[in-house]
Amino acid sequence: MGANKDYYDILGVSKTADDREIKKAYRKLAMKYHPDKNPDDKEAEEKFKEINEAYEVLSDEEKRNIYDQYGADAVNGQGGFGGAGGFGGAGGFEDIFGDIFGDIFGGGGGSGFGGFGGFGSSTRRGPRPGADIKQSVTIDFKDAAFGKKIDIKVNRSEECENCHGTGCKPGTSKKTCSQCGGSGVIREVKQTPFGNMASQRSCPNCNGTGEEIESPCGKCGGSGSVRKTKTVEVDIPAGIDDGQVIRLSGQGEFGDPGAPRGDLYIVVNVKPDKIFQRDGYDVYVDMPITFVQAALGDDIQVPTIDGDVKYSIPAGTQTGTVFRLRGKGVQRMNSSSRGDQYVKVNVEVPKKLSEKQKELLREFAGESGQKVKENKKSFGQKVEDFFNK
Ligand SMILES: [Zn+2]
Ligand SMILES: [Zn+2]
Repeated sequence: MGANKDYYDILGVSKTADDREIKKAYRKLAMKYHPDKNPDDKEAEEKFKEINEAYEVLSDEEKRNIYDQYGADAVNGQGGFGGAGGFGGAGGFEDIFGDIFGDIFGGGGGSGFGGFGGFGSSTRRGPRPGADIKQSVTIDFKDAAFGKKIDIKVNRSEECENCHGTGCKPGTSKKTCSQCGGSGVIREVKQTPFGNMASQRSCPNCNGTGEEIESPCGKCGGSGSVRKTKTVEVDIPAGIDDGQVIRLSGQGEFGDPGAPRGDLYIVVNVKPDKIFQRDGYDVYVDMPITFVQAALGDDIQVPTIDGDVKYSIPAGTQTGTVFRLRGKGVQRMNSSSRGDQYVKVNVEVPKKLSEKQKELLREFAGESGQKVKENKKSFGQKVEDFFNK
């Protein structure tokens, strides 16, 4: 699951679709493919899951942003977007299907509503989960290649110690909401030409919790949470690349009591290295050698991310030749194999020669049957002369 799915495509909306369009498209598709309407239809079930996965991401501004930037498998290896959420909690399913399949006629009120026709409209939410946090971290090239446990500081809301998240002054407790009588919803029955329509909405006084605070906690003012800077350990997986995102589930903001925390998204920036360059899981190195080494061959020490290794340059190696060190690249994520290292040989021509060296080269040229008209001036000097004319 998850590998770069096009969530916009799945919902049949454009990349610029607003929340209303997304919700509308989701509602339409979800009703069409709902398992209750398609019993024993595996394909519909799959489609239904896919629609929900897409909606879960696109209906959440934070997740949608991350998805737009990094794709569906952005959080590779550590959960992904689908994950634990699914239907419950913050979004989708309950919200929309509350209308149709929800507990309109159940709950506190009992049987009073039996026999009414029609659908209500429910906006009951219950305790709200915490918001997600997005933070970035910069690591060294080698830490990205080999992975590392690091500590990062995260400023987030935590449970208030004074009231243990209840929001009530210690020694006091919540009382039943005076507006909804504890049900969390306000029920209304309207008369219409089609008969009585029952509907309900979330109680505005208690936000659907059914309880209200009589004396708020002096430390958090009744919110149940306070802001703190926490140290969070992040396990950077070996092989992570610049710009990839790690999700730490349940490490985001504190939610309402009883609701889950949000998630923490960590965008990983990898510092460039002076020696090594990376493309995917392969590593590239430029290696200078002398023209004598190139001509005669030599054993050279090549830097790799594991340390220097010996490599035998064959006689007659040309400048620009690339050789491969198999398995000397970066660890692939979710795999035991590694990429390769490519070493590009650059033959360097000496810029300064002693008289003795020049003499030997003239002898070398003579031996090769060459006649060389020696220029005193270097190419750089010639260019300079040209422009100064
Ligand atoms: Zn408190
Ligand atoms: Zn209430």
